[in-house]
Amino acid sequence: MYIGIVCPNFSGSTVVGSVLHRFSSVQHVGEIWKVFSEKHKDVAFCKECGGDHCPHFSASFKAYLKGLPQDDISSALKERFQSEFIVSGDKRPYYYKNFSGMPDKILVLLKNKYSAALSYAKRVEGFSHKGGSVQSADIFREAAESYYKDLASRVKWVESNFANENIIYASPEVIVDMGDSDLARFGKSLFGKEIMISSTPFDENFHYIGGNHKISKGKDRSYFKGEFRPDRRYEVIMSPSEKEIVNRVVEKNFRDLDLTITDTDFIESWVKDLL
Ligand SMILES: [Zn+2]
Repeated sequence: MYIGIVCPNFSGSTVVGSVLHRFSSVQHVGEIWKVFSEKHKDVAFCKECGGDHCPHFSASFKAYLKGLPQDDISSALKERFQSEFIVSGDKRPYYYKNFSGMPDKILVLLKNKYSAALSYAKRVEGFSHKGGSVQSADIFREAAESYYKDLASRVKWVESNFANENIIYASPEVIVDMGDSDLARFGKSLFGKEIMISSTPFDENFHYIGGNHKISKGKDRSYFKGEFRPDRRYEVIMSPSEKEIVNRVVEKNFRDLDLTITDTDFIESWVKDLL
């Protein structure tokens, strides 16, 4: 089975892919679309290994993948990694449609609204970490609106191209925080069967394209410290009035998403409250 993560940028797809990689017979391959993009060929390597030194994503294997029809890509990855399940962190519908092929099942990540706004705000010109200023209030409004614009277009594609039973909505914060028994339950919904979970977060076979390797590489120690944990830095950065601005954007936009939430979905209460 080929599972595609769909979400806006900075929504935790790498960390969720890493958590799913703990299931035996599951390989997270990261941003596999980069292998097929001429524009991104210089960054299409496994950052765990660096360059083309990766024993799995070698130059010859990437060249082989590039020569395959889209429909054969997931099978080639399954064979390469001897994995029954492939998880792609390609995120954008455009990449699945034009590069890495259509997944069998979609996992849509709905990030915490404040964390999503903060991730987007960091990319807006003039963003300051000092909360509460008029300037950053505008920035948070703009950031939350762009996040929802991206989310809406991706959700629309998912809802119109996949059957309900092949779409799961989940919160990255909830997935990252799950104990092993909840994770096993989540895995059963996603993979359609019970699969063993490894007791260690990283195995020697964990190689993936692109993505944010902060956790495994031990960078960004001040926050992640080499472990899976939800990003709640917004709690110290955002003021109550900035949160209120984000709340207003979410209230306006969330209903319009028109999600088909089923009882196998794993989302936080803040999402349910808005339905
Ligand atoms: Zn590697």
